[in-house]
Amino acid sequence: MRVQVDFGLCESNGICAGLIPEVFDLDARDDLHVLSPDVTPQNETRIREAVRQCPRQAISLVE
Ligand code: SF4
Repeated sequence: MRVQVDFGLCESNGICAGLIPEVFDLDARDDLHVLSPDVTPQNETRIREAVRQCPRQAISLVE
C-alpha cells in the first residue's frame, strides 16, 4: 500500500506532517510533499492516524 494525497482537497494545515514528519512535509511555501509514500509495518499505525485526523479527508491509502 502507499499514501495518496488529493492536493485539491489539502489545505496545508500540517496535521499529517506533525503526526509523521518522515512521510509528510510542508515546505516553506506551505506546499505539502509526500516524502515516502510506502506504507510499512513501522509507519502504518501513524499513517492511518493521519488519514483519520486529516480534516479534509485528503489522504487515502491505495494498493
Ligand atoms: S492533514 Fe490533510 S489537509 Fe492537512 S496538510 Fe495533511 S493532507 Fe493536507
